[in-house]
Amino acid sequence: MKFARLGDPGNEVPVVLDGDRAFDLRSVTSDVDGEFLANDPVGRTQAAWDAGALPEIEDASSLRIGSPIARPSAVVCIGQNYAAHARESGAEPPTVPIMFLKTPNTVVGPNDAVTIPRGSEKTDWEVELGVVIGARAAYLDSPADAAAHIAGFVVANDVSERAFQMEVSGGQWSKGKIAFGFNPTGPWLVTPDEVDVQNLRLRSWVGGEPRQDSNTNDMIFDVATIVHHLSQYVTLEPGDLILTGTPQGVAFGGKFPYLKAGDVVEVEIEGLGHQRQEFTAWEAAR
Ligand code: ZN
Repeated sequence: MKFARLGDPGNEVPVVLDGDRAFDLRSVTSDVDGEFLANDPVGRTQAAWDAGALPEIEDASSLRIGSPIARPSAVVCIGQNYAAHARESGAEPPTVPIMFLKTPNTVVGPNDAVTIPRGSEKTDWEVELGVVIGARAAYLDSPADAAAHIAGFVVANDVSERAFQMEVSGGQWSKGKIAFGFNPTGPWLVTPDEVDVQNLRLRSWVGGEPRQDSNTNDMIFDVATIVHHLSQYVTLEPGDLILTGTPQGVAFGGKFPYLKAGDVVEVEIEGLGHQRQEFTAWEAAR
């Protein structure tokens, strides 16, 4: 099943998708939020569908696509989780998952414009598989327990400012990860039954030119290991988002220039959808 949220920022309508058609979920839930995701979203949506209780949204294709999940309580991220990306960053592959945080207000729609922060000269892209939590996860006993705590998967762009992340960071990466809108998410939340999560091609482009092209089978720590590991340190709530790291092919690796105003970034994960963002100058967003 594919869930999405359509409409202007703050007024998105929850929908379930059937091909190109979108059906209004508001008879089931007011939003694609933690409460919905923790309470059998697929079964309740199917029951409403079977009862004919989900009217089609006729002008869906003309509506803005929001993040497919309401604002999460936490966005927990894994760094250097692809061996080739760790190498391009000049680091040895980690032996335990590296964790950092993004703020919830980084989460925006997949095609929303992204503002390059004031003073930035090193704004960068990172296509990532996002994991959405469906049941509270604390102190899981093993990676095998992770699946029961996952509501689905999304495309995410972990937009990063490398000078803020590395040069003025004081050793913590988050400063370069939390500018407003630095986490375009979606277009869809895809339920796990439709996703072969450790075999997904993920790609990015800048100005139509290819940048990243890898597969989630190259992760150092797989999704189940990440959820199990994080749950030892943080209580993951329904509706929370985990970003699982990015493969090689970002500007930080030195092969490509950083982003400038007017650049268009696209990111895509097989089966999870496609994003397209124009990057704009800070002055234009004032
Ligand atoms: Zn990242």
